[in-house]
Amino acid sequence: MKIKSRKNFVLFYVFFTLIMLALGKYIKILNMGNSLNITTTPISKSIYKQNSGSRYIPLKKYYIVIDPGHGGIDKGTSYGNMYEKDLTLKIARYAASYLKSKGNVVFLTRNKDKLLGLDQIGDKVNSSCADVFVSIHINSLNDKNFNGITTLYYDVDGYQKDERIKLAKSVEGEAVKNDNWENRGIKRQNLAVLRYSKIPGVLVECGFITNSQDRARLSREDVLKRLGENISNGVISYLNESEIN
Ligand SMILES: [Zn+2]
Repeated sequence: MKIKSRKNFVLFYVFFTLIMLALGKYIKILNMGNSLNITTTPISKSIYKQNSGSRYIPLKKYYIVIDPGHGGIDKGTSYGNMYEKDLTLKIARYAASYLKSKGNVVFLTRNKDKLLGLDQIGDKVNSSCADVFVSIHINSLNDKNFNGITTLYYDVDGYQKDERIKLAKSVEGEAVKNDNWENRGIKRQNLAVLRYSKIPGVLVECGFITNSQDRARLSREDVLKRLGENISNGVISYLNESEIN
């Protein structure tokens, strides 16, 4: 290549890169404004972390939204002075700090005792452009014998169906790993928070507050911490696998 044409090529390349960067930013702004009508793309990235030597080891970095169910005047389900909204916030915070310690970026839809509308949650999830969305809840039923963890997913007309099922299976499998939780499997259920989400999402029902054994588990801080960490591991292994495929 001649020197002049090489110079032109470099100039064109720089100009082209700047245009693409500007365009990328513009699309992101559009996504934030009109969150329900766009298809977000995963923005997971590989970053590199320097270890003790001079070598760099690859570290996956994911963007994850965690939604602690209920809040404020909406206490969710309860038993005595045990409220679903408090338990979900604790589990979500444990999950968030664990995921952050692994180098991921985490958004909590709420980090205090306040109520969010379902549309607000949907907007937060979709404008985040995250890879995965996890909503945390606690179950209850008149029949006190029902116990265990269920992971719910939903696809609108097959949208992201396979990914959502894979994510639900991965989260369910990890969530029940410690503390003798019953595995109630995964279930497709038409819930607004899952329906609005443009990214793969699940809702984890973390045990039944109406069952005495589950309630005993949920009253222990160490169990809530492990639950948050195990749910996170389910999310990470789903993301690692979907990145390979
Ligand atoms: Zn709930």
